[in-house]
Parts: sequence; structure tokens; C-alpha cells
Amino acid sequence: MHSSRPYPTDHEAKKLIVEIGKRMYAKNFVAANDGNISCKVDDDLIWTTPTGVSKGFMSEDMLVKMRLDGTVLSQGELGPSSEVKMHLRIYNENPEARGVCHAHPPISTSFAIAGIGLDKAIYPEALVNLGTVPCVHYETPGTQGIPDSIAPYARDYNALLLANHGAVAWGSSLMEAWYRLESTEHYAMVIMYTGNIIGKANVLSCDQVGELVEIRRKMGITSGGIPACAPHPTNTQDVVAGHSPLGNEPLVTAGCGCGTGSSQKDADIKAITQAVMERLQKLRG
Ligand SMILES: [Zn+2]
Repeated sequence: MHSSRPYPTDHEAKKLIVEIGKRMYAKNFVAANDGNISCKVDDDLIWTTPTGVSKGFMSEDMLVKMRLDGTVLSQGELGPSSEVKMHLRIYNENPEARGVCHAHPPISTSFAIAGIGLDKAIYPEALVNLGTVPCVHYETPGTQGIPDSIAPYARDYNALLLANHGAVAWGSSLMEAWYRLESTEHYAMVIMYTGNIIGKANVLSCDQVGELVEIRRKMGITSGGIPACAPHPTNTQDVVAGHSPLGNEPLVTAGCGCGTGSSQKDADIKAITQAVMERLQKLRG
């Protein structure tokens, strides 16, 4: 995909790395000197971020130019991050990758700490542009273990959670890699809200997922995996005011709540249960 597109110039790549560093820091994806970014500028050349600096406060003269075998060609005061091994491995495994972003975004990192991959078919953008995000096993940061752990996924996926560590994303340009890292964090946030705060998610049906996979294929994206789908759609009816089972509750208990005795609550629960049962029956019918 996009293999005929020319590489960015050194100047373009360095400017973009500094810009994405600012975005990464502003979005709270990194603390202190965490995270690293790289951009491919030729078949065997990348620019990347140095070790030991905040990604929000970099200048172009700090950046490091390297070959894909790890040879440093030019650098500022500091050498490359020890985590650049992960970037080099992705480029070596997947020639279509031209940009890589690694950070510790709080929600994705929390899923990585829980050992839960992002694999719910719940909204189109995540499925088309990102796909599923597996969680790979733990390895010590900076060691060869991390590149080895991600290597089997570098061609078929676009982003990964690193157990007890953070997230990494790549793409056919550095900007696409950054968007995929942003999408990973957004996807994790929506899974957290629906799973742990709202407590309900209508998973897309297999037909709905199939349509999105077809759109993705037409866009030339062949990586990303396919999330598990629901056998039947549960999102095909309009939900209007007064008919949303979860939406009813705040209306009944709005205000000070002083007049809401337990019998009123029981009646509310009964009404909500009945509404849910009616909806289920309609769906089955
Ligand atoms: Zn890290």
C-alpha cells in the first residue's frame, strides 16, 4: 500500500517528529521523558527521537539519524532511545511501515497492565483505520525482548499494547502512525466507558463488521485483524426519549431524590426490566 509514494525529506521528517512530540505531550500520552517517535526517509534511513528528553520540548537539532541496522549517522548531544530497537524491528519486519509512535497513554496502558487487548467491534473508525489491538506479553523495556515480542504482529496489525508498559502504532506515514496511536487511546477509552461505566455495548453484528472490513479493503488497508462480532444486530432500532432503559433512571431520580422511597425504586426497576424484555422480544421477533 502507498509504496509508490516518495519518502519525506530530512527537513519534513524532523519537523513532523517535533510537532508530533508536542501533540504527544499535550495529550498526556507521556510523562517525563517517556515515549519515542521515528520517521523513515529512505529504504534504509530513519530520523528518531533522542533518549532522555521530554517529547514536548524537542528541537530538530536534537534528533538522531540512523540506518535500519542500528548504526547512528548523526545526532545532537544525546543518542537514540534504547526503545528505538522496537521501531527498527517494525521497519525491518514490515517494509510498508514508514512511521512509528510509542507512548504510555494512560487508558491504553491500563488495558496493557490488565493484559486485555482492544478487540471489540463497537465503532467503525476503530475497525477501519486501526483494527484490533492485541496485547503482547511483557518484556523489560529497552531490551531485545520487546522487538522480539512485537515482530510476529508487525505485518498484520497496525498497533499493539505492550503488557505492563504502553502502546505502539505504525503506519504508511508518520502522521498515520500518530493517528493510530490516538485512535488506540480513544478506542481504549470507549471500551472502558461502555464496559465499566455505562455497563453495556451493542457489539456490531457480523454483517455490519463485514461491510466495514470491505470498506477497509477498498481503502487498501489489509492489516488490522477482525474483531469478534455479534451473530445478530442489536442496534437497528431508534432509541427515542423515554424509551431508553438506561436513560429512564436519571429522569425518575432527578432532583434531590428526597421523595424516592424504596417502593418507588422497585417500581422503576420493574418498569425498566419490562422495557428491556419488550425490546428483546421485538428483536427476537
Ligand atoms: Zn516505553
